[in-house]
Amino acid sequence: LDRLRGRLSRSQNAVGKSLLGLLGGGDLDEDSWEEVEDTLLIADIGAATTTKIVERLREEMAARGVRTEAEARALLREVLIDELRPDLDRSIHALPHPDHPAVLLIVGVNGTGKTTTTGKLARVLVADGRRVLLGAADTFRAAAADQLQTWAERVGAEVVRGKEGGDPAAIAFDSVSKGIEDGIDAVVIDTAGRLHTKTGLMDELGKVKRVVEKKAGVDDVLLVLDATVGQNGLMQARVFAEVVDITGVVLTKLDGTAKGGIVFQVQHELGVPVKLVGLGEGADDLAPFEPEAFVDALLG
Ligand code: GDP
Repeated sequence: LDRLRGRLSRSQNAVGKSLLGLLGGGDLDEDSWEEVEDTLLIADIGAATTTKIVERLREEMAARGVRTEAEARALLREVLIDELRPDLDRSIHALPHPDHPAVLLIVGVNGTGKTTTTGKLARVLVADGRRVLLGAADTFRAAAADQLQTWAERVGAEVVRGKEGGDPAAIAFDSVSKGIEDGIDAVVIDTAGRLHTKTGLMDELGKVKRVVEKKAGVDDVLLVLDATVGQNGLMQARVFAEVVDITGVVLTKLDGTAKGGIVFQVQHELGVPVKLVGLGEGADDLAPFEPEAFVDALLG
């Protein structure tokens, strides 16, 4: 929690502070409620979720006769945590099957932190005693395979890469095949995130998924979203969700934004949990997403 608190930017923390400032006095007039709403919207919590949160706060504040900042804090904490659905399964599905490795697809638009996340995730899995193979199926971005290879060497994972501009599905296929041969526990495939056209993306990702399914199965499809881009990220997410069945979201660059509220919107829109968060560029800057710790960090 301390790490999260330290890494969430101060401006993000300010969201919680101003909310508590507004709610702390009890008995809010309409203007103050509007300010509460604005504060939530500015933090990118989204219109639908904001309305829900404000409704619940209004009801509960009246019902409980909230008067002090401590009471407001407890209520706000409860409502926000609840809205983040702490009941959802946020585990990473990286346990091997009897005859083949777990296969994880990392998808998302280029620049969101896909390759970095793939590397960081590999580090977590290797530290956990798993044998990991990284598949460099992002053949669109020239340096992506080199970057992934560097990560693999750094964390002690194997890597399968192809020719620049090669077929991502062929690399995905080779990765899983090698994973089976070598008795690997988890194959993590970094895919290309070309959002040129929806059909282009669909063809490419769809093919990757199909070839992997022929050899093994897909255990987790993690969508990487850049928290700093706000609403744009949400639009990207919708397109990806139409193309593949996303099982979880990795929200990156949460260390550099006041718009962490996007967590609420992403889950609400996609109906899948945020499973991991990126808190920096380093190898250890990937953390499991824990609703309680997140809200505590938000409230400062
Ligand atoms: P890709 O094109 O999606 O594979 O993106 P990269 O993995 O190459 O990441 C793009 C940039 O974002 C790089 O400079 C990364 O170091 C940086 N990055 C990735 N994740 C994070 C994060 O959680 N926090 C910060 N501050 N930077 C990140």
